[in-house]
Amino acid sequence: SNEDVLPELESEYDQKLINELDREQARLQTIQETRQSLPVYRFRDSLLSAIKENQVMIIVGETGSGKTTQLPQYLVEDGYTKNGKFQIACTQPRRVAATSVATRVADEMNVVLGKEVGYSIRFDDKTTPEKTILKYMTDGMLLREFMADPELKKYACIIIDEAHERTLATDVLLGLLKDILPHRKDLKLLISSATMNAAKFADFFYDAPIFNVPGRRFPVDIHYTLQPEANYLNAAITTIFQIHTTQALPGDILVFLTGQEEIEAAQQSLEEIAHVLGSKIKPMIIAPIYANLPQEQQSKIFDKTPKDCRKVVLATNIAETSLTIDGIKYVIDPGFVKENSFVAATGMSQLLTVPCSRASVDQRAGRAGRVGPGKCFRIFTKWSYFNELDPLPKPEILRTNLSQVVLLLLSLGVTDLIDFPLLDKPSIPALSKALENLYVLGALNSKGAITRLGRMMCEFPCEPDFGKVMHTAATHGSCKGVLEEVITIIAMLHETASIFAQGKADREGNKSSVVGKVSSDHILYLETFNSWKDMNYSRSWCFDHKVQYKTLVRVRNIRDQLWKCCDKLGLVALNEQAVEQLNGDDNAEPRIVKSFISGFPSNIAKLGASGYHTMGAQQGGVNVSVHPTSIVFQSLRKDMVKPTRFILYQRLVLTSKEFMRDCLPIPREEWLHEMVPHYFKAKS
Ligand code: ADP
Ligand code: MG
Repeated sequence: SNEDVLPELESEYDQKLINELDREQARLQTIQETRQSLPVYRFRDSLLSAIKENQVMIIVGETGSGKTTQLPQYLVEDGYTKNGKFQIACTQPRRVAATSVATRVADEMNVVLGKEVGYSIRFDDKTTPEKTILKYMTDGMLLREFMADPELKKYACIIIDEAHERTLATDVLLGLLKDILPHRKDLKLLISSATMNAAKFADFFYDAPIFNVPGRRFPVDIHYTLQPEANYLNAAITTIFQIHTTQALPGDILVFLTGQEEIEAAQQSLEEIAHVLGSKIKPMIIAPIYANLPQEQQSKIFDKTPKDCRKVVLATNIAETSLTIDGIKYVIDPGFVKENSFVAATGMSQLLTVPCSRASVDQRAGRAGRVGPGKCFRIFTKWSYFNELDPLPKPEILRTNLSQVVLLLLSLGVTDLIDFPLLDKPSIPALSKALENLYVLGALNSKGAITRLGRMMCEFPCEPDFGKVMHTAATHGSCKGVLEEVITIIAMLHETASIFAQGKADREGNKSSVVGKVSSDHILYLETFNSWKDMNYSRSWCFDHKVQYKTLVRVRNIRDQLWKCCDKLGLVALNEQAVEQLNGDDNAEPRIVKSFISGFPSNIAKLGASGYHTMGAQQGGVNVSVHPTSIVFQSLRKDMVKPTRFILYQRLVLTSKEFMRDCLPIPREEWLHEMVPHYFKAKS
């Protein structure tokens, strides 16, 4: 009968519970043991006493020694948060690093991510203000916090991690922190860096002490190619199989590639070749990691490699210092990196694939020597290493568009841009270009002072250009009433890399039905999102239309946040008035196009005898082509539309030639004069 069965079930249940508790106990113990085995652990006490004595300290250590995961925990353990009254911030140049490390540390501290330990990256805040004591965040997010709290009063300690990366946000943060330190005597500032640049940081902070954490490192054999390789991707794939078939297990491989597309291409080739070879080779686990990889797939790189199996990690330079993957014995390095590059003279900003610095390729090689002696295969020549590579990477502040940072500094009351403390000063032309751009957008008046619109643009969690687009869409006489559409497009533009299903064939396939019918990538994005929304945000709709569900969920979240921000600024109310007046009988498309013109006047190309060329430069500009993934390219190729005289693009990418990505044809020239008169009158 039932009564006989029940007690037995119950005891089985108890046993399960006990097993679970045992497992949990064992897990916590392993975590403690792992923490204590990290090189930084031996220096815990001396680090803490040095921190007590110095307001600013530079901490230098081998990657993987435990700086990012352990230091903040030591500070918590040492009582710096005063029982939760203050917070500790640790900045990261990369979003993926911030989320991944926060997840790890929450685990180590045995707390739920988002409570005591959290992260804050753009459009994704996983913290609880009353509860969070340790916050990993991107450097850009901490920069924004200066607007609400110019002395960062809620923080007891700030760790600027990976400072050697020298991102624009990190450099500006260091300048702002230098200014507030005298007023915040109780604030501790730790700057953690790989060996390069350490002395420069110390110097910048009036000879702050440098604390060295010696790491363990095994020798790494370096191999070069004898001749330059024309196709480094193929060479890398060949090398992977050579290692896999000739070198004993265990021993995982880390390959440095430049971006998502390259990583996807490599993954596909690897899978195809492995499929053909079948059981002739040992199984291979391919784990990609890049900035836009959905979070739930990121943890795969940390999963323990099963026995008799080899893990091949395909990474961007995020794996150079930000993330440490255990078990790597072989590094394959083509020696390239994708970098933002801005030429002030032409006003052109683009992503370029450029050779790494010597310091970077040395860092990369070092990743092979963490568990034991390793090997690094460089897909370039020894001659090139010694003669062609720059010694150090170029800091972002010297090669990027400064508009956003200049606007932020002006809004913080920094008016003397020339004397603002910076490790490297941007060039005067770069500063002037930023000021000019902000003036064209209406963020500054003719005297160079920030306007009301400029202040509003600072409030948006995105580039000022997008802020201007939203402002126009809600308020401008001949455009207003399209705020919702424009916000959807902007949210989609933030995730374009991963909206459509992976694989080239799919990416093109899913657009074929609308070629010739949809005028621009912008409208395609809008219609894609709206169709999904009309289907009640359904997962199966995404599957049927080869659209990434998780990406759209992120887009929806970005959209909600932009909407909230516009609401706070009063733009939503203005937009709603406009919508009411229009009564729904006006075509939205021209108003959308005009709104984008107002925000991106310098991203417009003009059709000439030899195709499109950019208009910013005095010498007639640079030739640019519509990117093959653009809906505009496909419509033009099939002769379904005529090219417009002007076209707006969101980004330029240089591969085989200069390509415009995310294109918005401008059907009427007079819109340029109408939307940005002081910019276009003189030129055309
Ligand atoms: P550092 O900042 O000095 O380069 P970290 O603190 O990032 O070092 O890493 C210390 C150790 O923690 C490394 O062995 C690394 O593999 C491990 N670790 C870091 N993040 C994770 C994670 N998300 N999952 C598993 N292990 C991790
Ligand atoms: Mg680190």
